[in-house]
Amino acid sequence: MVVDEPGLRSLPLVGHERGLALVFPDLADAARDCRFRDCTHTHEPGCAVRALLESGAVRRPKYDAYVALAGEMRSSLGVLDPDVVL
Ligand SMILES: [Zn+2]
Repeated sequence: MVVDEPGLRSLPLVGHERGLALVFPDLADAARDCRFRDCTHTHEPGCAVRALLESGAVRRPKYDAYVALAGEMRSSLGVLDPDVVL
Protein backbone atom coordinates (compact mmCIF):
# COMPACT_ATOMS: atom_id res chain seq x y z
CA MET A 1 0.00 0.00 0.00
CA VAL A 2 1.30 3.45 -0.89
CA VAL A 3 0.26 6.36 1.31
CA ASP A 4 0.35 9.83 -0.18
CA GLU A 5 -0.51 12.77 2.02
CA PRO A 6 0.82 16.29 2.61
CA GLY A 7 3.95 16.26 4.70
CA LEU A 8 5.00 12.78 3.77
CA ARG A 9 8.21 13.42 1.91
CA SER A 10 9.79 10.03 1.92
CA LEU A 11 9.06 6.52 3.00
CA PRO A 12 11.38 5.46 5.78
CA LEU A 13 12.89 2.14 4.86
CA VAL A 14 13.41 1.09 8.45
CA GLY A 15 12.47 -2.49 9.12
CA HIS A 16 13.22 -3.73 5.63
CA GLU A 17 16.74 -4.90 6.38
CA ARG A 18 15.63 -8.52 6.17
CA GLY A 19 14.07 -7.84 2.79
CA LEU A 20 17.32 -6.32 1.62
CA ALA A 21 19.16 -9.41 2.82
CA LEU A 22 16.73 -11.64 0.90
CA VAL A 23 17.19 -9.70 -2.33
CA PHE A 24 20.97 -9.43 -1.95
CA PRO A 25 21.94 -12.52 0.07
CA ASP A 26 25.55 -12.56 -1.12
CA LEU A 27 26.11 -8.89 -0.31
CA ALA A 28 24.28 -9.10 3.01
CA ASP A 29 26.43 -12.10 3.94
CA ALA A 30 29.58 -10.26 2.98
CA ALA A 31 28.52 -7.17 4.95
CA ARG A 32 28.84 -9.21 8.14
CA ASP A 33 32.53 -9.68 7.36
CA CYS A 34 33.28 -5.98 7.01
CA ARG A 35 35.87 -4.75 9.48
CA PHE A 36 33.55 -2.02 10.78
CA ARG A 37 30.01 -2.70 11.91
CA ASP A 38 28.79 0.66 10.58
CA CYS A 39 30.56 0.17 7.25
CA THR A 40 28.91 2.07 4.39
CA HIS A 41 30.72 -0.18 1.86
CA THR A 42 32.01 2.83 -0.03
CA HIS A 43 35.46 3.73 1.30
CA GLU A 44 36.21 1.88 4.54
CA PRO A 45 39.25 -0.40 4.72
CA GLY A 46 38.47 -4.08 5.18
CA CYS A 47 35.11 -3.86 3.40
CA ALA A 48 33.95 -7.33 2.33
CA VAL A 49 31.15 -5.95 0.15
CA ARG A 50 33.53 -3.86 -1.95
CA ALA A 51 35.88 -6.85 -2.13
CA LEU A 52 33.10 -8.79 -3.91
CA LEU A 53 32.74 -5.95 -6.40
CA GLU A 54 36.50 -5.70 -6.95
CA SER A 55 36.85 -9.45 -7.44
CA GLY A 56 34.15 -9.39 -10.11
CA ALA A 57 31.84 -11.68 -8.11
CA VAL A 58 29.26 -8.88 -8.00
CA ARG A 59 28.55 -6.46 -10.83
CA ARG A 60 28.51 -2.70 -10.40
CA PRO A 61 24.71 -2.09 -10.84
CA LYS A 62 23.90 -4.64 -8.13
CA TYR A 63 26.52 -3.20 -5.80
CA ASP A 64 25.25 0.35 -6.45
CA ALA A 65 21.65 -0.70 -5.71
CA TYR A 66 22.64 -2.43 -2.48
CA VAL A 67 24.76 0.46 -1.24
CA ALA A 68 22.02 2.98 -2.10
CA LEU A 69 19.26 1.03 -0.34
CA ALA A 70 21.41 0.25 2.69
CA GLY A 71 22.38 3.92 2.92
CA GLU A 72 18.74 4.98 2.71
CA MET A 73 17.85 2.63 5.57
CA ARG A 74 20.75 3.92 7.63
CA SER A 75 19.67 7.55 7.18
CA SER A 76 16.03 6.66 7.93
CA LEU A 77 17.16 5.30 11.27
CA GLY A 78 18.46 8.74 12.17
CA VAL A 79 15.25 10.64 11.40
CA LEU A 80 12.72 8.46 13.18
CA ASP A 81 11.59 9.33 16.67
CA PRO A 82 13.70 7.05 18.87
CA ASP A 83 10.71 6.57 21.19
CA VAL A 84 8.58 5.12 18.41
CA VAL A 85 8.81 1.37 18.11
CA LEU A 86 7.84 0.16 14.67
ZN1 LIG B 1 31.58 -2.86 3.95
